[in-house]
Amino acid sequence: MQIDVFTLFPEWFDWMRRPRHLANAAEHAGLELRAFSYRDYTPLSAGQVDDAPYGGGAGMVLRVDVIAEGLQRVYGLPAADVRRRRRVVVLTPRGRMFTDRVARELAELPELTLLCGRYEGFDERIVEHLATDAVSIGRYVLAGGELAAMVVCDAVLRKLPGALGHADSAIEESFSEALDGAPEYPHYTRPASYRGWDVPEILLSGHHERIREWRRERSEERGRPGSGG
Ligand code: SAM
Repeated sequence: MQIDVFTLFPEWFDWMRRPRHLANAAEHAGLELRAFSYRDYTPLSAGQVDDAPYGGGAGMVLRVDVIAEGLQRVYGLPAADVRRRRRVVVLTPRGRMFTDRVARELAELPELTLLCGRYEGFDERIVEHLATDAVSIGRYVLAGGELAAMVVCDAVLRKLPGALGHADSAIEESFSEALDGAPEYPHYTRPASYRGWDVPEILLSGHHERIREWRRERSEERGRPGSGG
């Protein structure tokens, strides 16, 4: 899979490429992560990428001609045609909520492009004419789309075959189909008793069927409204 991120801060993505465990996971999963700066492609002088909003108001808006030029030059296609060839996702607080299901859906794509906003966000024509869809990582406002893009990359990477050391880790985890969309059950490790805080007996029993049942019950419990799970 190839994920391309367009941003004003491509160097932020070095953070995802450098740590050995992430680099290994990406390599094993065949993920290529590239980051492009809007400023490297802007047709405007002095690296300009944004402008004041029509109608007035605070802040600056990312320009459609700048984002279009970036897509066109990176993919060698008219900008409006890029979304016919690959998924182009705008990161925005008002987008479709990023969930485990969306992560799975994106992980099935061979190619994905993420557009990070800054300032007041994108000229709406970018969303309407250059992107395929819009995704939000939560109902709050970040200063920019970079952290949102990293969240998407991280969650998508976990879904790719080969990314995790243990193949089962990504199958039975919080919000997965294997757990009917519920949060994961609690985990414990050694010591079995610490300051009088004991690991549930059942987990030490070696009785795999009953352990499986216990875990499913805990997962269901955590998924009930108001459980805080
Ligand atoms: N004016 C916009 C609004 O009120 O919706 C907020 C713009 S925000 C300061 C700048 C950029 O950060 C957005 O264009 C988007 O790319 C990114 N961003 C902020 N919060 C986000 C979220 N919850 N999910 C995804 N991207 C987000």
